Amino acid sequence: MADSRSVTVFYDEVMLGHDPQVDLPFLPSRVEKRVSNILRELNFKWSYPEHPGRLTAIMEWLKEYPIPGVQIKVGAHATYEQLGRVHTTTHLDHMFSLEGKRAWLDKDTTAVSPESIQAATSAAGNAIAAVECVVKGETQSAFALVRPPGHHADAVRARGFCLFNNVAVAAAHAQAKLGCERVLIVDWDAHHGNGTQDIFWADQDVLFFDTHCAAPFYPGSGNLNEIGAGMGEGYTVNVPLPEAAGDIALEKAFREILIPAADYFKPDLVLVSAGCDPHHNDMALNMSYDGLAVLTSIVQGIADKHCDGRLALVLEGGYNLTSLSRGVHSMLTVLAGGDVPELMESGLREVMQAAEFHRDAFKDD
Ligand SMILES: [Zn+2]
Repeated sequence: MADSRSVTVFYDEVMLGHDPQVDLPFLPSRVEKRVSNILRELNFKWSYPEHPGRLTAIMEWLKEYPIPGVQIKVGAHATYEQLGRVHTTTHLDHMFSLEGKRAWLDKDTTAVSPESIQAATSAAGNAIAAVECVVKGETQSAFALVRPPGHHADAVRARGFCLFNNVAVAAAHAQAKLGCERVLIVDWDAHHGNGTQDIFWADQDVLFFDTHCAAPFYPGSGNLNEIGAGMGEGYTVNVPLPEAAGDIALEKAFREILIPAADYFKPDLVLVSAGCDPHHNDMALNMSYDGLAVLTSIVQGIADKHCDGRLALVLEGGYNLTSLSRGVHSMLTVLAGGDVPELMESGLREVMQAAEFHRDAFKDD
């Protein structure tokens, strides 16, 4: 058992107020036809996958299986000014104009209900609170359990369930107010973090590293040759993977690509867009809870080496409630100093046990 460490979870029930339903009116009208057609072609009753039950499942699991060293706090809402560090006023004014309304914003399933904007400012604000807590040394690491997620939202647009880019807002806050010059953002969500990549595309002070299921999987970006531009050239690192990629491949990507990149970059703060959807219960990639635990321990090692352990995770996707709640639990367990499992190809441990069990069965005496 490693030394126990303090971990602070940031969470606010306000984020449960974001609850879009499928039968919403559409905005703008030309999107309406496309989304209506998509929904009509589905043969089952479709419901909005990014729903409040995601966060309650995580919190209930944590309550049932508490982790020593983990405390829970509530962060303040992000302000217009804090959001404005990474989003245009056009985008922010549009989002705030939707307060109290129900609407579809985008053909790729981004919608709002009356309390969504409050939920979204809370999500970004809790990501900021996680970073503040870590940088000020009040906790060794933090995990902002937030929704709506953020990494598909770019400077000008809501996309893919995301209204504001929570991790980008937190990174920009750390740079503007907390004296962190260089921020490493690791995105292990199964989907490419196109919004985060866009926001820091030409920025040499934010290193963005993203493992994801390769295009044409949503959102279709994150190719190997997307490396940033201008002063930021080389500071975007994409590792597109086939659907079947699992623990061993991801661990190798982190050890052989991320660690050397971090050694070169020397971050002052490490942030993670921590999705649980690379777990095999979800729609792409083939990771286990042990795999998610190992990735957590690798980013923790990077933070320990370069920036006194300053590490904050921000929740992104994860739509299977079982793997979402248990996945977050396994990440928190490692953050709190729990044991880190050794990874093997899936099934190999069981085959070794079975081989031992059957060892003498067919031997002549
Ligand atoms: Zn995702």
